[in-house]
Amino acid sequence: MKPIIGIAGNERTMTTGETFWLSYTSRNFVEGIQDAGGLPLVLPIGQPEDAKRYIQRIDKLLLGGGHDVNPKLYGQEPHPYLEEINEKRDAFELKLIDEAIKQGKPIFGICRGMQLINVAFGGSLHQDISLFGPTSIKHVQESEMTKQTHLVRIKANSRLATFLPEDYSVNSYHHQTIKNVAPNFTVIAQAPDGIIEGIEANNLPILAIQWHPELTRNASATEQQLFTYFVQEL
Ligand code: MN
Repeated sequence: MKPIIGIAGNERTMTTGETFWLSYTSRNFVEGIQDAGGLPLVLPIGQPEDAKRYIQRIDKLLLGGGHDVNPKLYGQEPHPYLEEINEKRDAFELKLIDEAIKQGKPIFGICRGMQLINVAFGGSLHQDISLFGPTSIKHVQESEMTKQTHLVRIKANSRLATFLPEDYSVNSYHHQTIKNVAPNFTVIAQAPDGIIEGIEANNLPILAIQWHPELTRNASATEQQLFTYFVQEL
């Protein structure tokens, strides 16, 4: 039976004469999960108290990209370089994470999803990569997002090392980065400048990466394998 994969949705406006609000997710996530043998189910941003029933309906949870996480959640004041936040999304997704753990459902985090997981378990973020310090690597790439532009080193014996080589290339579209890694999590992918590009929980089925395999999966079989691993193995 195909596992049901809940995708935490996002919201945006669309203007065609009038302006409408859309609850949505990227089709790239939908197709990545479908091609991995899963049934995607979009979970629109909602009330935290409804997270329990949503999680009961799914087998695994995917947290995608988008807004910056509210820095208040990791004990920082908003920095001038902080970009858009969505407190309702933060609150709902944090409750989804909490319920997924309570109900033993695996979680895969991508970009913001990784950052939120890190915060949920007690880690922190740099509100902008410039606050990490000097780097010679471009983490907001301007070339096409299907292009894998910078290297990451994959940690031996990690979940990622079961199907990715030690030296691997990823696309990059993030202006924030992990500062302190959450307790009981391990860094499993790191760029040559030291920026953290992947983490996993030591004793829970949680895998999270900073890059965007949903945008490279048509160009790179190993990127689609991230979805296959999540849907079939995690
Ligand atoms: Mn990067």
